[in-house]
Amino acid sequence: MSLAEIFDNVKKGREYALLGNYDSSMVYYQGVIQQIQKHTLLIRDPALKVKWLQVRQELVEEYEQVKSIVNTLESFQIEKPPTDFSAPQQDESSRDPSIWPPPIPVEHRAPLMKRPNREIKPLRKESPVGQARGLVGRGQQGGRAEKPSSKYGGDSRARGKDDKGKRNPQEAAGDADGKKFDGTGYDKELIDVLERDIISRNPNVHWDDIADLEDAKRLLREAVVLPMWMPDFFKGIRRPWKGVLMVGPPGTGKTMLAKAVATECGTTFFNVSSSTLTSKYRGESEKLVRLLFEMARYYAPTTIFIDEIDSICSRRGTSDEHEASRRVKSELLIQMDGVGGTSENEDPSRMVMVLAATNFPWDIDEALRRRLEKRVYISLPSASGRAELLKINLRGVDVALGVDVTLIAEKMEGYSGADINNVCRSSTSFFALKNR
Ligand code: ATP
Repeated sequence: MSLAEIFDNVKKGREYALLGNYDSSMVYYQGVIQQIQKHTLLIRDPALKVKWLQVRQELVEEYEQVKSIVNTLESFQIEKPPTDFSAPQQDESSRDPSIWPPPIPVEHRAPLMKRPNREIKPLRKESPVGQARGLVGRGQQGGRAEKPSSKYGGDSRARGKDDKGKRNPQEAAGDADGKKFDGTGYDKELIDVLERDIISRNPNVHWDDIADLEDAKRLLREAVVLPMWMPDFFKGIRRPWKGVLMVGPPGTGKTMLAKAVATECGTTFFNVSSSTLTSKYRGESEKLVRLLFEMARYYAPTTIFIDEIDSICSRRGTSDEHEASRRVKSELLIQMDGVGGTSENEDPSRMVMVLAATNFPWDIDEALRRRLEKRVYISLPSASGRAELLKINLRGVDVALGVDVTLIAEKMEGYSGADINNVCRSSTSFFALKNR
């Protein structure tokens, strides 16, 4: 054994110890200690022999240190749980297919296989809260509430509940941080109703999917996105709009714009319609309105989208107005006064913005109109907008070479975006069938 080999083995033993590969390190130490032992037997010079014995002693100490580390690590190891439950999964390939494995107890199955511990509620009327009523009744359909009146269909779902998804960015704002609204003092079922209306699944509508409407897009970006990026700039007189009203004929893309805000802006997005805020129980609708805004403040920055707002907040004081709906309107007005980056001290990046859409702005209560400070008219598309709409709608379709989109767009004056969409759908399916 050469000296070079001894030095090399010492070096390797130390390196492995530093890298945490203690088993290999110990092997090298043991080997080198034995080598030195043999080497010292051959040495005649007593002074040199003493030096080699000192080196050996130092290496023995190092070896003992590594050994004690290994012992400590072993003491941390937890005893493995009984493996009988997982045995069928581990040894799947060698399992005899003609023999069924023993059943796996529910509590030892993988989490995804485990059924949620759902409480089955009695249909018996115990209290007004416990029974299936308008809003809550929706939620009891298989635990996955669909909002019939919502244009998002099944997209609305509680954000703080599971996926976060980010959620689109926002999809996840609440969920990713594990943030969950503390509803102390409120009826839990009312909270569940509203949480279902927080969009967590991405509506997947991007600014590019919307033709024309550049002003509206710019305004919404300015109202929602920029205050979050530059909170210091959007203060005082430049404070963000607390309410934006989109007005225009049907089928011009108002709901699409709201969906694009939800997709692109990264705020918590509540999609509210009259069905969300109405209940047959006296006083509950007002509570829902109040709770909605409290949750919105909690999950801020938030955008509350109220589609067809005229159905919730029509003019007050008319003869056919019910007292209950009047109270809901009053609560909405009170709550809207307290939202937005209204004062100097408020942080614009924590704002709550109400985005509303209607076809009948003249039917909205005047006080509410005042609170919806910014109004955007979403007009019927212009000629260039119609051409763009045609192109968007015919994206995946093979169009004949002779088709002049600009000419068709010019001839479609007065058509809304929804009309153009219908025309494209019917004509593409007609030609597809004809060419078959
Ligand atoms: P309403 O006032 O009746 O609620 P709306 O203004 O909310 O209507 P949307 O629901 O946004 O209209 O649009 C209806 C359909 O029309 C959309 O699904 C889309 O296919 C088409 N559409 C309308 N405007 C546009 C647009 N600017 N760009 C792309 N598609 C559009």
